[in-house]
Amino acid sequence: MPDCMFCKIAAHEMSSDIVYEDEALVAFRDINPQAPMHVLVIPRTHIDTLNDLTAEHDALVGRMYRTAQRIAADEGYAESGYRTVVNCGAGAGQSVFHVHLHMLAGRRFGWPPG
Ligand code: AMP
Repeated sequence: MPDCMFCKIAAHEMSSDIVYEDEALVAFRDINPQAPMHVLVIPRTHIDTLNDLTAEHDALVGRMYRTAQRIAADEGYAESGYRTVVNCGAGAGQSVFHVHLHMLAGRRFGWPPG
């Protein structure tokens, strides 16, 4: 998707602090971190929102969460805990329309979320 910032990050056309990547996914640090660790896990494939997922994405979504599990362990938060969030749609706070999994850790989180 030519105008998508996260597609550009995935293609290394825009700089970012990448913590993990493979043929299907890229994970990089959020530019405006909301916790000591704030990483975004994205598919290389452009998908606008969670609403656009189909059965063909089932393995990809599982892989996103398994990658989050691995990053949490690498960053030392597997035991202390971390939060994963996917905002779907502007009403939920989505501002970049390329599906991404937020990973946040290193502080206490409230519930319900704001
Ligand atoms: P959301 O509001 O759920 O769509 O999340 C988008 C996230 O992308 C926000 O937390 C932003 O801080 C983050 N973000 C926007 N531009 C960049 C960028 N160039 N590199 C890293 N993170 C970004």
